[in-house]
Parts: sequence; structure tokens; C-alpha cells
Amino acid sequence: MIRLCQRPGASCGACCGLYNSRDHGREAVQAELTRRTLVLRRTEPTLPAFRAAAAKLAAGGPEPLFPSVRVCPLLGFLDESETRIGCLAHPLVTGGPDLRDAGVYDVTICESFLCPSHAWLDEAEASFAELATGGYHLYGLVVTDVPFLRAALGAVAALTGARVERRHLERPAFREALTRLLALKEELEPGSEGLFGAFRPGRDGEPVPRTIDYQAMGRERSPWDVLLTCVGADPHSGNDLDLLEEEVRRRLEACEAAFTPLPVRR
Ligand code: SF4
Ligand code: SF4
Repeated sequence: MIRLCQRPGASCGACCGLYNSRDHGREAVQAELTRRTLVLRRTEPTLPAFRAAAAKLAAGGPEPLFPSVRVCPLLGFLDESETRIGCLAHPLVTGGPDLRDAGVYDVTICESFLCPSHAWLDEAEASFAELATGGYHLYGLVVTDVPFLRAALGAVAALTGARVERRHLERPAFREALTRLLALKEELEPGSEGLFGAFRPGRDGEPVPRTIDYQAMGRERSPWDVLLTCVGADPHSGNDLDLLEEEVRRRLEACEAAFTPLPVRR
């Protein structure tokens, strides 16, 4: 079984509610994680103290976008330079006591939960997400959206005529171009829904699958329909389909231009 939550070059906290806020952009998410980390670093590592701190942090946190999806205030930064995120109640972080019962789930759930990406992604795909996202914010968005990652890699392969391999990412120009393509996930119109993949919040707060209604717009299905659906290119989601399609085309062409075929291995 591959591990996706903490990898040498990436970390994720999506299932702890990282992106479940109206403003889930990089800066807003960073500010919220910093706020929690500063409080929890000063909190005595006991269950009552963490419970009290968690309650205060939750009350002062941003409003969730999906009310039925929990947001845990114990997710924060593991390092001083704020590059790695993780559970601040985990025994490896507290230095002994397991304080995850103070969060929105409990120790048993937190210890055993693995999101579906663990079953779907293979190690090569996981390493593409790790190496080509350049930070926790984009990594978590990409690693939890398997259709998006596969559609992006598939679209690059269709243009270049070669399957993307980990060795290709050792070329900085290609890695940067692929990062720009994947970064579509975090550059959408404020308030639009593509950050959550091909879903939108339903009336009861549960995620509802989204599709792009090309017929209603009187146009052909885009060759990059899966990519566009995952980033929320439906006009109802707050994004402009034509602009996003053009952006997808531009970023794919940049990947193609930066792609260098590798010598055949013997
Ligand atoms: S969403 Fe998946 S990869 Fe991310 S922290 Fe949760 S279990 Fe790990
Ligand atoms: S207590 Fe559980 S839900 Fe909260 S941050 Fe830790 S692992 Fe995530």
C-alpha cells in the first residue's frame, strides 16, 4: 500500500478539512494553519487543554463550505518554515501523549482512515503528484483528485506521444510546466467549486457530481472534458469554460514544448 499523507517531499491534510472553507486559496489556508499552530504550540499537551484549545480555534475559524464535512482545528504546521502540514495532536508531534481524541474525530478513526486515492493511485502517479506540485496546498488538491491527475498526465502523453515517467520530472523546465498545468486547481475564480474535483456542494452539504452541459451552451464536448470538469469549468460553478479551456490548451502546449524524450533504457 502506498502512503500519500506524509511523503518525503509532500504532505496532505485534505481529510482533516484543510480546504473546507469559502476561501480555500493558498494564502487563506496558510493563515489559518499558522493561527492554529501558534496556539497549539503554546498549549499544554494534555487532553483537557487540547480540547479547550480546539473548541476556541474552531469557534474562531473560517465558515465551512461543506457543513457536513468536518474541519479539524488540530491540523497545523509541523515545521518552523511552514512547508509541512500534519496533525499537531499526533504522539510523534506532542512528544508522547496521543491527543487526537480532542479533534473532530477520535484516535481510532484518525489512525485507520485512508482516503480512496490510496487504493487508486500507483506509486508512479503518487510520485508525480509529490514532485510536480511544489507545496502542500497544491499537493493535497491533486493527490485527492485522481481523475484530474490522470487526465493531466494523459493529455500530456497524448501531445508528446510518450507516457510521462518520473525521469522526465528531473528536467526542471518540464517539471515546472507540469506544475503550471496542475496549478489550475488553485487558480480558479474565487468561490468556484473546482478545488473539490468534479463535485459541488448539494443542498444538504453533501458533494454532488458535476458535469459540463455542452448542449445547453450549443458547443461540442471539449477534448479535455475530464480536466475541465475537475477544475469546475462549468459556467454554473463560477468559471468561464472558454477561458479555462484556452488556459488548459496553453499549459498543455507548454508541457509539450518542455518535454524532452529520454534515451531508451537497455
Ligand atoms: S486526504 Fe488522503 S492523502 Fe490526504 S491526509 Fe487524508 S488520507 Fe492522507
Ligand atoms: S486529530 Fe485527526 S482529524 Fe484532527 S488533525 Fe489530527 S488526524 Fe486530522
